Amino acid sequence: MTRLSSRHISQLHLYQVLHAVRRNGAAMSRAEIGESTGLSQPAVSSLTRRLLESGALVEVGARPSAGGGRRERELALNSDFVWVVGVNISLFRITVTLTDFAGSVRGTRSAPLATPMAKAALVKRVVKEVRACLAEHGGTGVALAGVGVALPGFVDSMGDLVHWSAVFSAGSKKTHRVTGLAAALSKELEVPVFIENEAKIRALAEQWFGRAARLTDAAAITLDQGLGVGLIINGELYRGRAGLAGEMGHVQIVADGRQCHCGKRGCLEAYVAHYAVVEQGQEAGLLPAGTLLPQDIEATYGQLADTARRPGAAGTKARAIFERQGRLLGTWIGNVVNLLALQLVIVDGGRQLAIELLEGPLRTALDEAMVMPHRGRVPVLIDHEGGEAWARGAASLVLQRLDESAQVVSVTSRHGFDEDLHPTETKNPAARRAAA
Ligand SMILES: [Zn+2]
Repeated sequence: MTRLSSRHISQLHLYQVLHAVRRNGAAMSRAEIGESTGLSQPAVSSLTRRLLESGALVEVGARPSAGGGRRERELALNSDFVWVVGVNISLFRITVTLTDFAGSVRGTRSAPLATPMAKAALVKRVVKEVRACLAEHGGTGVALAGVGVALPGFVDSMGDLVHWSAVFSAGSKKTHRVTGLAAALSKELEVPVFIENEAKIRALAEQWFGRAARLTDAAAITLDQGLGVGLIINGELYRGRAGLAGEMGHVQIVADGRQCHCGKRGCLEAYVAHYAVVEQGQEAGLLPAGTLLPQDIEATYGQLADTARRPGAAGTKARAIFERQGRLLGTWIGNVVNLLALQLVIVDGGRQLAIELLEGPLRTALDEAMVMPHRGRVPVLIDHEGGEAWARGAASLVLQRLDESAQVVSVTSRHGFDEDLHPTETKNPAARRAAA
């Protein structure tokens, strides 16, 4: 095991303080920060002084101390300290969101996107949309901490590698492998850029700003054009080898079954993702035949749900498709809970979520699949969070790297941070001095 130097320990403690205030969601006293982090009061005083000097924290209001004596100043995140850009790339849309240091969304811009496309074209487009969003929402004068990019597919965030994503067209070697996407964006935008799989970003958002904030083991599942899973294990986003953890939507449930977008056959995704449900509707003669564009799938899925809500033979046939989707999902979620002993599962069912068609069969199958000690004790929430959840997740991705590197004590200009955010390699001399 590597021994930590005193500088690294100091950086870790700064991160703990910032993270405690962020997760609390409201101003905290120094005593509360001490309780939350387990750090001593002298340590908390010293660390918070440095964070106040850097501008990352601000003193706000005051409330009477427990004994009614001296009033204690509370500490909060300075929301204007730095802003973060989040970019969500789907198969047919790009959304750019500006988020402040406290995680509040300050502005959003969204535009159609025609995928699959080459890396160079995507970089050009992302840069254009980010610049436009900054110009539209007053982001040009603020310090930009970095950009977090969410995209579907197999993404190695740490290695800046996209193993495969339906967003990209096949390259000259007939693979969809894309390297250096974050580096290319960072070069153009002149701030640190981090990429991550969209479901992992959702899990981060739930852990940082959402319903998994005080939990150590939870899953965020995204069900729309694909079936994604982001896992929080032991309080951390779990990435696994090459960032490939959580691809449980591609468990094979039928040997030689339906064709999946990932190239395999018989994956669960090929039965329950919205494109798969639409295909089953077409095969049952409930929808017109033919290949649909990605941007038309959600509306068509909604159309099939409308048919399922109506009485008559067509309604019965359509309901059977949704019931099967619910049953398969319920069994699978139960198995995931059994494997990982999760405390919470959050399912985002997309804009066209047909909850009344899915939920009954899903919950019945879930109860049947979960081992007895979990039954009735693990909340499975099914809803649709909308656009801002992605944005907060993308912001979390950037803020996590920044908080971890304790670079918040090193901001010396209005131009952002050093490119190298690795906690052991702080290049900025100011940060080195502060952390020494
Ligand atoms: Zn698959």
